[in-house]
Amino acid sequence: MNDLECRNCKKKISEEKFMSNLWICPFCGYHSYVSARDRIQITTDDNSFVELGNSIHSVDFLNFYDIKPYSTKLKEAKLKSSLEDAIMVGKAKIKNCNIALGVMDFSFIGGSMGSAIGEKIKIITDYSIEKKVPLVIFCASGGARMQEGAMSLMQMAKTVSCINRIRENKIPYFCIVTNPTSGGVSASFATIADIIISEPGALFCFAGPRVVKQTIKKSVPSDFGTSERGLKNGQVDIIVSRNDIRDTIAKLLKLFKR
Ligand SMILES: [Zn+2]
Repeated sequence: MNDLECRNCKKKISEEKFMSNLWICPFCGYHSYVSARDRIQITTDDNSFVELGNSIHSVDFLNFYDIKPYSTKLKEAKLKSSLEDAIMVGKAKIKNCNIALGVMDFSFIGGSMGSAIGEKIKIITDYSIEKKVPLVIFCASGGARMQEGAMSLMQMAKTVSCINRIRENKIPYFCIVTNPTSGGVSASFATIADIIISEPGALFCFAGPRVVKQTIKKSVPSDFGTSERGLKNGQVDIIVSRNDIRDTIAKLLKLFKR
């Protein structure tokens, strides 16, 4: 196996060691990227995840072209990630408790939210309501899928109305914020959960410090847009190391059990 480099402290880590440490740097504790499939594997009971809505995928309905056609970007993202879009949803178990689960993957066009994500959130919230099981979503997103124009922005309204139905049905919803969670996802379903858990050091904001600095032409605090600042200000309920997220969700599931 190859040596990898920590993005934060730049120290070399063997791939084997990094994997066994759940992609947390053993030197500085930096929580590195985890794919949706690995996240499911480390969080849920063995072989309990059954994917729903796996035929849903994004379509280039605007024939959008920037550096390259959106249709080409989609094909490349699918090949690179082996995913249909930037979220996987399905039913699963955590310590024998049934849940409806959504897990975003940043490697698929920056976890950007297009119409396929909105539809998959709809599928998993419908399942959660039908089966009366808690909803758990892991977020990772750079914002809107601009290649889908206004349709991308409409997913904020769509996903919020899905979560509102979860609330009307008195079903618990836990969101786990991972690095980064920003833009349209942070402005919709990531910030309206009953409990918002974050991994340490996650960027969790609408616009990141660089964009805000450029816009207001003033410096911003060093912890601007971090989960740690969100915790101080009440936007985040708890910051939990990746090692303890499965246990924390299991405790919450028991606590909220009806
Ligand atoms: Zn490190």
